[in-house]
Amino acid sequence: MKDTLALFPETYEASRERFRQNLNIIQERWGGATLSTQQISDDDLSIDWIAADALDANEKVLIFTTGEHGVEGYVGSAMLQHLIDEYLPRLDPRTTGLLLVHSINPWGMKHHRRVNANNIDLNRNFLWDASFDPTFNPEYDSIKGVYDPTKPIQNFALSKLSFYVSSLWFLATQGFAKLNNTFLIGQYRNPQGLHYGGEDYEPETRLLIDLYRQAISAYDQIVHLDMHTGYGPRYQMSIVNSALETGSSKSFAEKFGYPLVVAANPEEFYAIHGDMVDYIYALWQNEFPEKKLFSTAFEFGTLGDKLSGIVGSPRAMVFENRLFWHGIKNERLPARIKHDFEELFNPSADDWRIKAVADGDQAIHGILRAEGYLEE
Ligand SMILES: [Zn+2]
Repeated sequence: MKDTLALFPETYEASRERFRQNLNIIQERWGGATLSTQQISDDDLSIDWIAADALDANEKVLIFTTGEHGVEGYVGSAMLQHLIDEYLPRLDPRTTGLLLVHSINPWGMKHHRRVNANNIDLNRNFLWDASFDPTFNPEYDSIKGVYDPTKPIQNFALSKLSFYVSSLWFLATQGFAKLNNTFLIGQYRNPQGLHYGGEDYEPETRLLIDLYRQAISAYDQIVHLDMHTGYGPRYQMSIVNSALETGSSKSFAEKFGYPLVVAANPEEFYAIHGDMVDYIYALWQNEFPEKKLFSTAFEFGTLGDKLSGIVGSPRAMVFENRLFWHGIKNERLPARIKHDFEELFNPSADDWRIKAVADGDQAIHGILRAEGYLEE
């Protein structure tokens, strides 16, 4: 149990240092493994990845990515280290290659934000056709007054109350699916708003697209796992498949021996425009349809899927974003707003962290076994 908790890093720097230290251990089995670093800003923030070809034949590749949503990278780092400790020793280096990516969004991880330094939600930035259309999601205008207010927070309690009242009113009049879809799908016209997808590919996005294309072109079979936190039930991680995955969630749950598999569509989870896993599916369908591919996201739920979580999760995000851009009068409150936000994406409770690793382990094991990556 103590070891499980030690998987969760305290800082971006400690997490990156630990990741880099894995190179020597990985090289014991994959002699040609390399560590690469791409600087993302001047203040020593970088995307780091370890890549290794298979020793005899590039049959299979395991791609594991974390921290696309900065602050979610702490849990992602724990899962990545668990994978390296527990599963790399069980892969066959003669036929299996690796691409392990530490923190796609290092600025967000370092500064405990979901977005990158340009306020861009990178998981709305992976548009296959580069259609950064500011008129996309017109319904966003009807909720932005509540979800992206443009004034400083004057009175915390009153602002909170007003947010809850408005949210419940939206829920009652528009329904959960519609509200969720409008809020979460992404928007391309308010650069200070939530789920802003930008107007072009970000440097982080371009780098990842290159890495994915290289890995997919070099191997016959690709398994990709991407780590996220925030949505879904608190004590049961959700495997969230791409809307472009044609297999049913039920069939995947059976195949993987994992209880909770959903697809990223409005019926089962929520829809996303510019999603990274969708991009990988589009890349595969358009350029490498002869290969075998499975790419998915692990979503570790935090505040839960009851009403308190459904309203409380966006509440924590809205206040953090409003504080960042517009400030607050009361000097004691920023710490509380940041704490609520941190709990939404990097929960501190020991029991949560232990269950998260157990769920991640069960899902990794089930997927690698079903896809033929484990030898037993
Ligand atoms: Zn995420």
